[in-house]
Amino acid sequence: MHAKKESRPARGAAGNTRPYSSPIDATLSRLEGVKRTGPGKWIARCPSHDDRHPSLSIKEADDGLVLIHCWTGCAAADVVAALGLSLADLFPGDRRTLADHSNGPMRRPFDYRDALFGVAHEVVVVRLIVESVRAGHPLSDEDAERLALAQERISDAARIAGGVL
Ligand SMILES: [Zn+2]
Repeated sequence: MHAKKESRPARGAAGNTRPYSSPIDATLSRLEGVKRTGPGKWIARCPSHDDRHPSLSIKEADDGLVLIHCWTGCAAADVVAALGLSLADLFPGDRRTLADHSNGPMRRPFDYRDALFGVAHEVVVVRLIVESVRAGHPLSDEDAERLALAQERISDAARIAGGVL
């Protein structure tokens, strides 16, 4: 595990957008029927459909990113929406800006490692948008812009690594 700053106050009242110290806390606290199945892995009832048996898998990646998957096919975007969260809430604080729908430039000079993490997160964002479209949701203008931003950021990362894309 990475060292995490514990400067944030303890859990706040429900309804706050950022009351939790980590994405996994925010996610698990809102789910029902949570059972731990292994290190960094849980199952729970999916909030996005009438789920009698836990069909939602939750995994916390090494960097704190929360991965969720409903085995009956709910899109990740629908699952987090049913929890009152957004996809950006699945990202740890220091990476959240990469998931936000903002159009800001990359925040600071990247090194290779940062560039690689940045690309990895952009790919997750793209996958989540693709999943949403596959689930039958129209591609919103916001999502289309976010896809363009992902390409831009991946190109930036390649440039930082000395390549041209
Ligand atoms: Zn579901």
